Amino acid sequence: MNVIVFGPPGAGKGTQAALLRERLGMAHFSTGEEFRRHITDGTALGQQIRAIVESGDLVPDAIVLDVVRDALQSDRFRNGCIFDGFPRTLEQAYALDQLLADFGQSVDAVLTIDVPDDELVRRMLARGRSDDTESVIRERLRIYRERTEPVLAYYEQRGKLYRIRGDAPIEQVHQEIRTVLDSLAGER
Ligand code: AMP
Repeated sequence: MNVIVFGPPGAGKGTQAALLRERLGMAHFSTGEEFRRHITDGTALGQQIRAIVESGDLVPDAIVLDVVRDALQSDRFRNGCIFDGFPRTLEQAYALDQLLADFGQSVDAVLTIDVPDDELVRRMLARGRSDDTESVIRERLRIYRERTEPVLAYYEQRGKLYRIRGDAPIEQVHQEIRTVLDSLAGER
């Protein structure tokens, strides 16, 4: 099954994706984690994207798609994947459909985690990542509304969108996600 964990920065995408990986043994791919690793390791890609990520802006689609294309070659994704923080633009969503089609696969479900803005800001300030200063957080939220949120309509039109209430304890959010995934598995 290919599942996208979607939502604004701070919604808990990474936390929920990690729980799914742990408990269901699903493969997990986070573009943000991949980018942070390149930045920490000082690779050529890391040097190219560092300033972009630190400003809260999106990495250009061409770079994101190169990274995703490379990753999807790995056998560990042959049974599907949890995508975390990807796609973040319509272009990326279209490209993902193409990439998966090459393996005879498709997106099965998009789980969008809804959390009110003040709670998002509170959570991001608390986690204290280097790109989590207040001005960068505001910029990331603005970019989310402008460039990423339109992706939801694309999946909604295809009947793939599921809304998850994210303003709840981690375990409760996880259970809500499990209910959706169980019902999908039942249909297959
Ligand atoms: P995340 O860990 O998902 O919050 O991502 C951290 C940062 O990495 C984002 O603020 C972007 O700068 C960059 N990034 C991660 N995923 C993407 C993506 N799919 N498209 C563009 N930029 C991304």
